[in-house]
Amino acid sequence: MINKIISPLMLLSALIMLIFIFSPVMQAQIIRCFACKEEIKGAYIIVDGNYYHAQHFVCKKCGKPIEGSYQKLLGDYYHPDCYESETAVKCAVCGQIITGEMITKDLKFYHPECYKKFIVPKCSVCLEPMEGEYKVDVYGNKFHAYHIGVLDQCEICGRIICSALTNGGRYYEDGRHICNLCYEKVEYNRQNIQDLLTKVIDKLNQMGIRLSKNNISVQVVDKNELKRISGMEKFNQLEGFCQSQGQTIYVNNTKKKTNFNHKIFVLSGLPSLNIEGILAHELMHTWAAENTPDNQPPDVREGSCNYISYQYLIYSSDPDVKYLLLGMEKNTDPVYGQGFQKIRNKFYGKPISALLDYLKSGN
Ligand SMILES: [Zn+2]
Ligand SMILES: [Zn+2]
Ligand SMILES: [Zn+2]
Ligand SMILES: [Zn+2]
Ligand SMILES: [Zn+2]
Ligand SMILES: [Zn+2]
Repeated sequence: MINKIISPLMLLSALIMLIFIFSPVMQAQIIRCFACKEEIKGAYIIVDGNYYHAQHFVCKKCGKPIEGSYQKLLGDYYHPDCYESETAVKCAVCGQIITGEMITKDLKFYHPECYKKFIVPKCSVCLEPMEGEYKVDVYGNKFHAYHIGVLDQCEICGRIICSALTNGGRYYEDGRHICNLCYEKVEYNRQNIQDLLTKVIDKLNQMGIRLSKNNISVQVVDKNELKRISGMEKFNQLEGFCQSQGQTIYVNNTKKKTNFNHKIFVLSGLPSLNIEGILAHELMHTWAAENTPDNQPPDVREGSCNYISYQYLIYSSDPDVKYLLLGMEKNTDPVYGQGFQKIRNKFYGKPISALLDYLKSGN
């Protein structure tokens, strides 16, 4: 809250006139100066019942003798001008006296222009003072609400793409607009992506989700290609897809075993954190293909894959993970969002095996 006030001290102070007394010193009595404690011979002045050498009655602020009127404050004496500057309200930014309007905040006083320039928080997008309605992104960056819809948000991290916050951004050929913070972290190297697959499989195995490294491959494709492969042309948020093929071997018309082969497709141009999250989701599909009935409802299937991705990502120390986790928590899609929330409500805090048993049972 900002208040505009005038100095209370200015109202309280009253101008007091100085009294000079010139009189011969009486022989019988020694008069001492209240300031220097020396004997006074000749002219003296009396202020508040105390005697002073005329040159020893000095201003607290400038140290020069006071001749004429003075002002008193907390037992000290001042020239009227010195008193004015001593008691005037000063700006906590520039240190200069505030004569006109002022702004008070947290028991400090400011010139309005100093306040605006140095104290008001700055918008992290346009760097102008932040007044009026503002928003905060998941990373804690505050910005004017009116930038939303005018400037693009990064499709990877959700930050507003601008020079101040993200050092600009770029467009991918498939139309995605991403910020340069994310672009710096994009993983293109095929071997590194293969290593990420191995890493996520190892982690899921540790979580009790049994997967083989021998029948799963990964391939990076752009958005248009991913839509084409998945057949989900209208689903713009799609970041991964898994093709699972099973070959069932029969002996004497009796099913002996099914050999599976899984091809995972991951959206290109993403940082490794995002790739890992997508791989965890798609790998859960590979597990489901091998271990659960085919007729599982879509919200259970996608919800449980998102839940495993969530469980995988939740331990990441990458600050951008917040955005991914929040994206899943706040997703309102009936399959991916509500499906995830349903599974999460049911299995959060329980061992992963409880979820796996539930999925196997086909409920
Ligand atoms: Zn003196
Ligand atoms: Zn003075
Ligand atoms: Zn100022
Ligand atoms: Zn702004
Ligand atoms: Zn970004
Ligand atoms: Zn899925």
